[in-house]
Amino acid sequence: MDQFEARDGVLLVGGQPLTRLADRIGRTPFYAYDRALLTRRVEALRAAMPPKLELHFAMKANPMPALVAHLAGLVDGIDVASAGELQVALDAGADPREISFAGPGKSALELRQALAAGILINLESFREVELLRALCAETGYAARVAVRVNPDFELKSSGMKMGGGPKQFGVDAEQVPELLARIGEAGLGFEGFHLFAGSQNLKPEAIVEAQLKSFELALRLARHAPAPVKVLNLGGGFGIPYFPGEQRLDLGPIGANLAALIERAAVALPQAKLVVELGRYLVGEAGVYVCRVVDRKVSRGQVFLVTDGGLHHHLAASGNFGQVIRKNYPVAIGNRIGDEPEAGVSVVGPLCTPLDLLGERMSLARAEPGDLVVVFQSGAYGITASPQGFLSHPGAAEVLV
Ligand SMILES: *Cc1c(COP(=O)(O)O)cnc(C)c1O
Repeated sequence: MDQFEARDGVLLVGGQPLTRLADRIGRTPFYAYDRALLTRRVEALRAAMPPKLELHFAMKANPMPALVAHLAGLVDGIDVASAGELQVALDAGADPREISFAGPGKSALELRQALAAGILINLESFREVELLRALCAETGYAARVAVRVNPDFELKSSGMKMGGGPKQFGVDAEQVPELLARIGEAGLGFEGFHLFAGSQNLKPEAIVEAQLKSFELALRLARHAPAPVKVLNLGGGFGIPYFPGEQRLDLGPIGANLAALIERAAVALPQAKLVVELGRYLVGEAGVYVCRVVDRKVSRGQVFLVTDGGLHHHLAASGNFGQVIRKNYPVAIGNRIGDEPEAGVSVVGPLCTPLDLLGERMSLARAEPGDLVVVFQSGAYGITASPQGFLSHPGAAEVLV
């Protein structure tokens, strides 16, 4: 992948040769995240977006504390999805005024912690309003809330029809006026709306359309709000290329559309700041997963590189995290960059299941035991989105370089 360079046939991560990095870490498998690539990503995104747009990091994509701390210094806010993530964000030095908390089924304890922290709570049900009202009365803390709206449209992809859908996330747009009335009665501090239409989208026109529709829906709902809208979080869903034929997202139309929306907001919602929240897009391309070849087997003519890593660390690369048809993530032999490739090589892990596949019939440099297999595009939804306990093998290390 072109965001990483190689020297003398060895991939560089954070400027360090991968072989030396592996020695420094002392074990494989590991995830390594490149600090400079993270910084460059945020800079490039800012350059393509209107200056007044706020960038938030949705930290469920990668909650590694050192990485969150690095990003907290670069973005305008952090979006958390649990009290555990909230703790990491606060430890990372994020400003509580710029942390928001979304997710269905927030517990009374989580809401209490969020209240005490002074962060923005994205309400997702009538129950959460009543719980917060009681918690405010009990603790005396003031609540800061936004409404997460389940829109009456879907993130359009490949010319699909529009239509509302039943979801466990947010409150259906048609119920939001009543929820806003309850928020007013409960005396909760209303600050705005949160809309999140979907994830991993590589079509700028679909993202533009979703953001436009989200904006217009928020304008309609704002008429029912108990206080002026100060925050309008339009979601994100910016995708990264994983598979052959996929191109990097063209940010041009998205930036232009958001600039136009910011101008409209200046008139229609004069106190509102516009926010996008991105997980995968900020961190996905900056990370690699690295494991070591343990065995090289030939079965009926097909080469299998058996490694010490697998789906228990990287479910997404195995194709079992939301993929319908399994496709290979980009893979390379990290200490043999530029070597003559051999075709039809499969990379597998040590688990006793045929699902434990990191690459199927790929073209890779000829590898032997001891060599390092690199899975690119692994900075998002990696270790924390994987079943680490499955088969009781050791976990993977994580480093920020
Ligand atoms: C998961 C999630 C995100 C991040 O999505 P990405 O596709 O990683 O950018 C943003 N907002 C909400 C509400 C989420 O649940």
